[in-house]
Amino acid sequence: MKKTFLLFLLGFIAFSLIGCTAAIPTKNNSVTPQTQTSLQETATDSPSSSHSVVSEPVESQPTVSQTLPPSATTSQPPVSSKPSTPASKPPEKPKPIPDTNLTDIVQYTKRPSYQSVQSEIAALAQAYPELIQTESIGSSVQGRDISLVKLGKGETKACIIGGIHARETITVSYTMRCIEEFCIAYTQNDSIGSFDVKTLLDTYTLYMVPLSNPDGLEIVTGRDTPAVTVTYRKKQYSHEYTTISDYKGNANGVNLNKNFPLLWEKINNKVNTPDAENYKGPGAASEPETQALMQLCENNQFVFMTSIHVKGDCLYWSDTLNPNVGVSQTIANRLEREYGFYKCKTSDDVNGFGGGFENWFRETYKRPGFCLELMPLTETVDPLSDVNHTYFSNTVRWNKSKAVLSLIMTYCKP
Ligand SMILES: [Zn+2]
Repeated sequence: MKKTFLLFLLGFIAFSLIGCTAAIPTKNNSVTPQTQTSLQETATDSPSSSHSVVSEPVESQPTVSQTLPPSATTSQPPVSSKPSTPASKPPEKPKPIPDTNLTDIVQYTKRPSYQSVQSEIAALAQAYPELIQTESIGSSVQGRDISLVKLGKGETKACIIGGIHARETITVSYTMRCIEEFCIAYTQNDSIGSFDVKTLLDTYTLYMVPLSNPDGLEIVTGRDTPAVTVTYRKKQYSHEYTTISDYKGNANGVNLNKNFPLLWEKINNKVNTPDAENYKGPGAASEPETQALMQLCENNQFVFMTSIHVKGDCLYWSDTLNPNVGVSQTIANRLEREYGFYKCKTSDDVNGFGGGFENWFRETYKRPGFCLELMPLTETVDPLSDVNHTYFSNTVRWNKSKAVLSLIMTYCKP
């Protein structure tokens, strides 16, 4: 009798334990993953909470690097290590969460093309005639317009550009979505993050160039080819060779962010011919896209500029020529502390920062110039598929990155 009771007791304890263990993943799964944060919700979305781990299930994003052989991924320095999971609880991989395109005009869940950007800019200007004016600031090597969106009603001007590196297609979508979200928030008297958009755009006019390298976008997405023979060479961190999906340049195989007249002569990266990634060009400011952006800056007194890029989840704000222009460091500190964008150390390698747009801007105007890198180093953008755009909010950490421009605007008043 005692033995039977003992067996029953053991069975009961075992059953309870299994029940508890089984309940754990269910509890984890009850965490609601981020889908989209509507602008209405952002009124309570304080900057300090905007990069909460719970609200941004970054692991759920399928990255290209996951489909590549290990040799393709080991070259990337890790950004951070994840806490190890106990062996008894194999992690359940959350299902990827495709974005629902919430804006009416900008189709940010698909890769952009030159035509789609041109059409969406025209549609935005038609939908928000009181807020938006558009013009062309020049032509690319292959004759495409470099379109400017002037957004806002204020007298203070700032310059925002996307897509200077061809393969970083998501930066074009990010810049375009920012434009439309600003318009929506303004007309609805709403905020982005904790920033009141009406106040910002009554103070500012943002000069936004979502696609500053239009030929590069068409080349990297297979709609066009370079105007010159381009070298594909070994990658810096592996034995693989670059391919068309690594293409950063314009149609002349020039990396535009190495072409600005800032210590250009001192860049010595051993790339002396048109290249998929790193050619500085035949001369400083040799490229029409570079010239158009310089002229834009020269015609306007921008209080800051920001160039949107992809790799690093960080903010470049300082170089040895101009280690702390104006409020640059204050902004970098706040973005790191509250938004999780790593504050890059002062750039001291001329091969890295020579010829850069933001570096040229800092030196020329002694005003803040930023390079915002939207994604962690460990993730890869695939310009040959829509995958990064399908998961747009995860890819660019929209929950935190959407408020970056607004934050910079609040600090950079003239
Ligand atoms: Zn870039």
